[in-house]
Amino acid sequence: MTEHLPAVVVGGGQAGLAASFYLRRRGIDHVVLDAAERPGGAWRQTWPSLRLFSPAAYSSLPGWRMPATPGADNPDAAHVIDYLARYEERYAVPVRRPVRVRGVTRSGEGFEVVTGAGTWSAGTVIGATGNGTRPFVPAVPGLSDFEGEQRHSSGYAGPEEFAGRRVLVVGGANSGAQIAADLLPVAEVTWATLTPPRYLPDDVDGRELFRVASARLRGEGGGVGSLGDIVAVPPVRRARDEGGLVATPMVRSITRTGAVGPDGVERGFDAIIWCTGFRPDLSWLSGLDLPRRDGRVVTDGTPVVPGVPGLFLLGYGDWCGPASATLIGVGQWARLVADRVAAALEPA
Ligand code: FAD
Repeated sequence: MTEHLPAVVVGGGQAGLAASFYLRRRGIDHVVLDAAERPGGAWRQTWPSLRLFSPAAYSSLPGWRMPATPGADNPDAAHVIDYLARYEERYAVPVRRPVRVRGVTRSGEGFEVVTGAGTWSAGTVIGATGNGTRPFVPAVPGLSDFEGEQRHSSGYAGPEEFAGRRVLVVGGANSGAQIAADLLPVAEVTWATLTPPRYLPDDVDGRELFRVASARLRGEGGGVGSLGDIVAVPPVRRARDEGGLVATPMVRSITRTGAVGPDGVERGFDAIIWCTGFRPDLSWLSGLDLPRRDGRVVTDGTPVVPGVPGLFLLGYGDWCGPASATLIGVGQWARLVADRVAAALEPA
């Protein structure tokens, strides 16, 4: 058993780093346990041409503005990974990696955090394990019969390997739009979405997300919607305006060699790319038997888990704080968590 710490942060992506920034600012001793071998969190599971939906200055974590990128384009994933790695150094984040948390149970002093590298005793636990841990593929009829190649967006590494092929891209959010646009110059692309894609207004980017999230934090209602609204980053906007990026209704079923559309017509495909998102993996919290609603842990709309003092869920999306799953939006929720941790550690 290691020494007792006032706070343990589980996950060392952008949310975990933001939490560490404010814990450090309040002088709260803590450790960040991260299962990944290297910094960057889910940004390491994206594709080279992925662009942030806002300029660097509006994609910053607390304390240090993300360095500008050369040229007009928004930052790419490599720029974000470099920023997160340097952020860790800049704020001497006490991160231990690779350390995977396997379970959390209550103890007399708060919680016991069990990992493959030992057990931590913690006064409070901040979950920041992100959404990228469990790629989600919907159970479309005939899925297992398909003889072509299937890939989830988390495994997409660029258009080259799909050149000259007939590719079905499934998913009407940012990943689907960006990957379909990425493939259009080299492949025959069919983009299938459950509902017609909703583009945010072209002038909306992370700044708007931050403004709306701040308003929500002040109790002025509203929300940023999910990341499912498509931000028209330049490559997406170009492909849309040139008429190449056109969504078609979701296919009914998959066959050995293709898919059957809602019109009942089968079309041949060589590959399917599932841009159907992720599900957070909170199995490491199963020992706490947390109340759930619609498969999600119940929160009060912020990182606070009612009825479980000392446990906080940060960065998973609107259900634990509007825009908390974004670089620009997670900081204000991390500050709220650090305030609550400080209050929880106050002597009774
Ligand atoms: P992650 O980055 O997933 O980090 C979680 C960390 O926890 C990982 O290092 C993981 O290894 C670790 N972990 C997981 N389980 C355990 C465990 N049991 N024990 C220990 N460690 C564990 N956001 C923006 O701000 N701007 C954008 O433009 C933007 N564009 C996006 C485009 C796409 C296509 C997608 C999919 C997302 C986009 N996002 C954007 C959202 C952003 O990428 C994620 O929300 C963000 O990476 C989440 O950060 P996080 O720290 O919450 O989780």
